[in-house]
Parts: sequence; C-alpha cells; structure tokens
Amino acid sequence: MNESAKPVLVIGGGIAGMTAAVEVAEVGYPVIIVEKEAYLGGRVMRTHQYFPKMCPPTCGFEINIRRIRQNPRISVHTLATVEEISGNVGKFRARVKLNPRYVTGEHSIDDSITEKLTSERDNDFNLGLDKTKALYLPHKMAYPHEYVLDREALSAAETDTLTEICPDGAIDLDMKEEELEIDVGAVIVATGWRPYDATRLDNLGYGQFSNVVTNVMMERIASSDGPTGGEIVRPSDGNTAENVAFVQCAGSRDENHLPYCSAVCCMGSLKQVRYLREQNENAKATVFYIDIRTIGRLEKFYYDMLDDSNVSFVKGKVAKINEDSASGNLTLDVEDTLARETHHDHFDMVVLATGVVPNSADTPIPLDLKYDEYGFIDGATDIDGVFAAGCTRHPCDVARSTKDATAAALKAIQCLNRG
Ligand SMILES: Cc1cc2nc3c(=O)[nH]c(=O)nc-3n(C[C@H](O)[C@H](O)[C@H](O)COP(=O)(O)OP(=O)(O)OC[C@H]3O[C@@H](n4cnc5c(N)ncnc54)[C@H](O)[C@@H]3O)c2cc1C
Repeated sequence: MNESAKPVLVIGGGIAGMTAAVEVAEVGYPVIIVEKEAYLGGRVMRTHQYFPKMCPPTCGFEINIRRIRQNPRISVHTLATVEEISGNVGKFRARVKLNPRYVTGEHSIDDSITEKLTSERDNDFNLGLDKTKALYLPHKMAYPHEYVLDREALSAAETDTLTEICPDGAIDLDMKEEELEIDVGAVIVATGWRPYDATRLDNLGYGQFSNVVTNVMMERIASSDGPTGGEIVRPSDGNTAENVAFVQCAGSRDENHLPYCSAVCCMGSLKQVRYLREQNENAKATVFYIDIRTIGRLEKFYYDMLDDSNVSFVKGKVAKINEDSASGNLTLDVEDTLARETHHDHFDMVVLATGVVPNSADTPIPLDLKYDEYGFIDGATDIDGVFAAGCTRHPCDVARSTKDATAAALKAIQCLNRG
C-alpha cells in the first residue's frame, strides 16, 4: 500500500458510487464522494422494493451507510458537483462546487417545525406527485439525515417566519455557494441515469392523460412513504387501480427514441405487476411486450407470474393510447403479433416502461472523455486513471452496478499504487 496515495474521487453517490467508495476505503485508501443531490442512494432509493429479493431498498442502503459512516477515510459532499478536473493519473486536481443547504446542522429540525410553513415545492423525490414544505427532509431515510431549504420556494413573507420557528442558529439564509480544490489520484464516474422523457412518446398519452404514468412513478405510488401511502390508485380520481396495462419498451428499442434495450424494464414491470397483485387479489394486469428479457436466474420471476390467471401477456407494441375523458379510462390499440389480431383493450391505468438514459448524456463530466452515441461512458475510459461504473456505463440492475463498481474500485487502487 502506498501510504502517501491521494484519495479516489467518486462522482455520484448512487449504489454504484457508494459501493466503489466503500470498496476503496476498506482497502485503506481515502475516498471523496461528490453527489449532486442532498442525499446519497440515487435512483434505487426511489424504488418500493427491488428485485430479485423484493426487499425495500433501505436494507442494502443501511448496510452501505453504516460502512460509510464508520469509515473515517470516506468524505461525503452532497449538493455538490465537479466543475473542472485537470492533471493526469495519480495527480488530478478537481474543482468542486458546494451548493448551500441553508441548514447549519447545529440544531435539530423536525416536521413539527416545518408544518408551520405554508411555502411549498414539488417533491422531486416523489417525482412531483406531491409537495413538500420549502424546508424539507428529502426522504425519511436520507443520509445525511438533514433538512434542506429550497430558497426559491420560500415566499418572501415567510422568510422572517422561518427564523422565528426554527431554533436560533439552525438556519443561515446568508449561506453561499462554496468551492473546494481537491487533489486526487483516480476518478470513478458513477453519475447514473434518468428516465426517458415520456412526453416525447406522443402516441402513448403521457402528460395528456392523467392515468398514464411511468414505471418510475409507479415505484413511488407503490411505496409506503410515497404520495399515496403505498395505495396503487389512479392519479385522476384516487380510485383503486383494478385493471392495469404495462407497456414495455416505451422509448427503448425504438429507432426514433432509444435504439438500445434498457435492460431493467422487463424485470421492473414484472415486479410492479407483483406489487399490484399482492395489494389487490382482484386486480388484473396485462403486459404488452416485444420480448420479455429476464436473464439467467431472473427468468424464474417471470415464469412464476405465468401461473397467475389475473396476469396476461400480449406480444405486440402499443400503437396508440386514447382516453375516455368522462371516466379517465384508457383504450390501447395494439396488434397481438402471435394471435395476429388487433386489440382495442380498455384499462383504468397504464404504466409506461420508460427506458434508461445516462445522466452523462446531458451533463458530461468535465474531462475529455469519449461517450458512445447515446452518452454512456466505457468502463475503462480513454483517460488513464478514470473509470466508469453502473448506469453511466450501460443500463443495468443493482447487482451489475455493484460488480462494475467493485471492478472500478480495484482499477482505481491500482493507479494509486503506481506512483
Ligand atoms: C422502473 C425501474 C425499476 C428498477 N428496479 C430495480 C430493481 O428492483 N432491482 C434492481 O436491481 N434494479 C432496478 N432498477 C435499476 C436500478 O435503478 C439501477 O441499477 C441503479 O439505479 C444504478 O445505480 P447507479 O448508481 O449506477 O445510478 P443512480 O441510481 O442513477 O445513481 C447515480 C447518482 O449520481 C448522482 N449524480 C448524477 N449526476 C451527477 C453529477 N454530475 N455530479 C454528482 N452526482 C451526480 C445522482 O444524483 C445519483 O445519486 C430499476 C430501474 C427502473 C427503471
């Protein structure tokens, strides 16, 4: 081990970034995580349960957080982004921007305080399906477990109220953006993914018909700390969803949208069918698919579902979704390619399995990296000392993300030991 080794910089604190960080630190090297949100955990934290074991995401998360918290070699910067990286392997210099939280962390804040505010903001953790107060805890398991103030959402009239209702010194409205220069030996890029913008699929009615939701929204709707307390109900009227269509490849494997397979959507939808069926024994689900792609041992998850007579599978791409505006019910036009029939089936809610887009497609890392045509970064990048892991490399599940992250951690450690 090189005792004078510089830290490894991990950009992105989702499951891939957190895994890479603990693997590097537990070998004995320092790590700095830079995460743009106010909390660690990434997209996995927004799922209700995760396949294949169907445990809540907090299970694995708690273990990782314990490892991070107990390890003095790991520093975490949230609300932070890397603005510039210069130098080369073994001696990179990064400029990190830290956005203000406006909460000092010196006094405790809780919901009995925030409830006194009327200023609200869209709850981005719940994908805008509900609201939070302007001063909010991002979610109940958030790490760091600290409130954040959305300065823009706080009305001018409530600026004084805030200082009155919070303990003295808890809020610092003069907190400013800060910059940090750090020297690091290697960089792991783990900036993950975002869902494909479903409003671009204009034949499928997302954004026009309120009972057409996306797979990521469905995760929040099914979640007990989500906008409906875990009840799978229709957004239009709050009625229980009894007959739900799952539309696969909504954007993926489509030359006009995402030509690649997003790899996780089939398992994602099968899992969500399970949420629906476990919640309501009378509920019916129909999955419209091109192929069901459940690889290796995940196939069992699919086969088990074939025994459920309330779940149907139709091989065919949905051409059009129409709404009956009076009831909010939806009709799907689809050609069943096995039966060679055209269907016009009615449902009370539709879930679009929108695909995975790398965040690096819109927000490139400030390094001269090569991206593929869709914005993904190859694992061993063309810059010595810079590695990519998880969904920034390719669409993948948690198991694959953690394997990537462990490989990237090993590669980064090798760089630190070269000097
Ligand atoms: C509907 C759906 C359901 C799914 N369910 C499952 C499941 O049940 N089981 C399973 O194994 N997989 C599931 N997946 C896949 C799973 O979400 C991914 O495998 C996982 O999120 C990949 O983790 P990641 O760390 O690569 O990316 P992310 O989870 O996206 O984390 C990336 C992190 O980087 C941060 N970041 C982004 N840009 C920057 C930046 N410029 N600077 C600093 N930080 C940045 C983000 O805020 C985020 O915290 C599902 C996917 C979908 C679409």
